[in-house]
Amino acid sequence: MPTTIENRDWKKIAEDSLTNFSVYKLDRPILPNDSILFLFSIKSRPNTVYNRYSDVLENGTYLKSEIFPRFGYFAETEIARPENRDALYNHYQSIDADLIRFETIVSTSQDQIAIAPGILEAEWIEKGRAYFHYRMENPFKFVFGYHSGRYITYSERYRGVECKIYHHPAHTYNLPQLLDGLKASLDYHTEHFGPYPYKQAHIIEFARSEGSYATTAGNCIPTSEIRFVNDKRVVQRGGADLAFYVIAHELSHQWWGAQVIPANVLGAPFVTESLAEYNTAKIYEKKYGRERVLKFLDIQKNRYLSGLTTATENEAPLIYVTPEQTHISYGRGALALYTLSEYIGEEKMNAALKNYFDKAKYKAPPYTTSLELLHYLKMETPDSLQYVVTDLFEKPGSEILLRYMQDACL
Ligand SMILES: [Zn+2]
Repeated sequence: MPTTIENRDWKKIAEDSLTNFSVYKLDRPILPNDSILFLFSIKSRPNTVYNRYSDVLENGTYLKSEIFPRFGYFAETEIARPENRDALYNHYQSIDADLIRFETIVSTSQDQIAIAPGILEAEWIEKGRAYFHYRMENPFKFVFGYHSGRYITYSERYRGVECKIYHHPAHTYNLPQLLDGLKASLDYHTEHFGPYPYKQAHIIEFARSEGSYATTAGNCIPTSEIRFVNDKRVVQRGGADLAFYVIAHELSHQWWGAQVIPANVLGAPFVTESLAEYNTAKIYEKKYGRERVLKFLDIQKNRYLSGLTTATENEAPLIYVTPEQTHISYGRGALALYTLSEYIGEEKMNAALKNYFDKAKYKAPPYTTSLELLHYLKMETPDSLQYVVTDLFEKPGSEILLRYMQDACL
């Protein structure tokens, strides 16, 4: 099927087949709340023994939303500072969509399950293929995936949410840890900040060949196979429970990233990744105790300090951190927020985050920024400790943080 627009007169005025960039001129402009019907098709180039062209696999396909055409010109420009009010009208994960309403019908081989964000409204077999119809309950960001594989499921209802894991039949070692991470994160965030926005939370295993990460998309948490085949004896001996931690972190993004959505400016990862890491550290502490959370913060310290040794640019303050500086947003961010909670207490810390959450959640453009988060942290900090907030978040490097790491024997 060629690319075409159905309900509007249009003409193509330019096409660059090398970069896959085309310019279409519509007879009338698209107005706010207007719609056009855009039809297109995408082909998968089969993989060979030697070359990997496609994410369509025999078992374990994982297609990301980046396969879809996007609208507009995606320039690689420098990210603006959060003080720039004009830059706050796009959020940190897309420039051509704020939040999207989503409904999809996906088909796959008859012996596989296809999964996409949303509630499964119907499934059927037609001409030897299995069809699945999903619809998202609420608008969400245009960042998601389609999965297909010979999955089996493991599930439990918790706090009114259907918690389900889609996994390879043999990968059963870490299912209780993964589910515990989901439940502990649901408990913590619901109690401190507000309800989970969906009726379902689905963890979906994807192949190691696709990566070693996990991510959040609508009500789905696509998670690498490596989190399903951890040696449980490591945890029993006091090592880090990464299966628990990773899922607790990803679910945290349902509050910090999905409900509170920062603008596409410097400091956005302080709002998403630093807050997810801090809250996950607290969840981990509740599950495993003080001694083991300090061990976990030690991993964050190593991430932070080793990142500094290989960084090619000067260290940024947390409120101006870039998406590439993950040693700062994750490593230093988790440590700095944890240090502040030691100074002002967990109760005040949670009051600051709750006030910020209430102010920023589902905020229409202009989107929130790290400066707004900083403001709420300062509001709950006594005058005598304001210098701590300044040192931890507004300066590159932090003497207070280094001293805290030493005192805590990190
Ligand atoms: Zn994250």
